[in-house]
Amino acid sequence: MQVPLLDLKAQYATIKDELSPVIEDVMDSQYFIGGPAVQELEGLIAGYSGCKGAVGVSSGTDALVLSLMALGIGAGDEVITTPYTFFATAGSIRRTGAKPVFVDIEPDTFNIDTARIAAAVTDKTRAIVPVHLFGQMADMDPIMEIAEKRDLYVIEDAAQAIGATYKSAKAGSIGTMGCLSFFPSKNLGGLGDGGMVVTQDEELLERLRQGRNHGQNPKYYYKWVGGNFRLDTLQAAGLIVKLRHLDDWSAKRRANAAKYDAIFAEIEPVTTPPVRDYNVSIYNQYVIRVPRRDELQAFLKDSGIGTAVYYPLSLHEQECFAELGYKRGDFPVSEAAADQTLALPVYPELTDEQIEYTAGKVREFLS
Ligand SMILES: *Cc1c(COP(=O)(O)O)cnc(C)c1O
Repeated sequence: MQVPLLDLKAQYATIKDELSPVIEDVMDSQYFIGGPAVQELEGLIAGYSGCKGAVGVSSGTDALVLSLMALGIGAGDEVITTPYTFFATAGSIRRTGAKPVFVDIEPDTFNIDTARIAAAVTDKTRAIVPVHLFGQMADMDPIMEIAEKRDLYVIEDAAQAIGATYKSAKAGSIGTMGCLSFFPSKNLGGLGDGGMVVTQDEELLERLRQGRNHGQNPKYYYKWVGGNFRLDTLQAAGLIVKLRHLDDWSAKRRANAAKYDAIFAEIEPVTTPPVRDYNVSIYNQYVIRVPRRDELQAFLKDSGIGTAVYYPLSLHEQECFAELGYKRGDFPVSEAAADQTLALPVYPELTDEQIEYTAGKVREFLS
């Protein structure tokens, strides 16, 4: 049996009839950047995320960069985030000239450990960027409390969490801004790169709209130096179609995760990903913690099962951040996670047979 980590072709087969005419419409219009489709998608995503507005951008990474730029964050500033996330979170902070300040994670959810944030705040801190990792939101209440007390912005990196909720609030709706990614392997994946910034702040919306187009307003007059962070029409048109299916896909991911949870409950060395009782996860990934992770991954590969290690090296240990002065041992919880976690296939189209086969192979290896 073959079980890929993700099967985008299986998903495409279910929506091809809906997508094809929409793509053809864009081709017929020969209108490729922005336009009514982008505006429509922005309205839909703002509504879906429980936000006042949304600004379509060229990627999740650019959503983060633009958010920081719109707040005027740059050289001399510090931004608190997690070392256990996709590179773009900290890379975007650094690209503005600001310094990423890492705070270790919770050992079970892998999200930022909010109890450790206050100690990392200095006079230079301007913002906190919590990441809602693997589809589960970070503990936002204590984050917002610290932010209010110390007058900090909060930018939610919700690239892996569209539709996830924390105490009924959607990902991206709690902080100053939320950043979404439509990278094809995300829960709402485009036909290429794409992203969005959502916010409750109308003034920020206007600044974000200017910033994604070089800071322009009106045409050929520039209020501030932004960039080319625009969203393609084709992406928006495709995403409008896919958004209709998102809740169904997320429910299927949750059902798949529940099936794994039930099987792994009986396999002692496997630690399954817990979801806090106030959270609803969208399981962008289903990540277990196991002994002999690398050997297990090789064994599963030989059995036809695709897996991935998110992430093999914490960000504070990355070569490009050597200048920040961190060293191995600074964030032991993150470092242990990097050594022990493995993502299993959890995509919506996965069959029961594939889940049982995958879990069975994990059991076989560990017993
Ligand atoms: C995917 C991702 C990003 C970046 O999104 P792109 O669209 O690939 O640029 C940022 N942060 C996290 C946590 C991600 O998973």
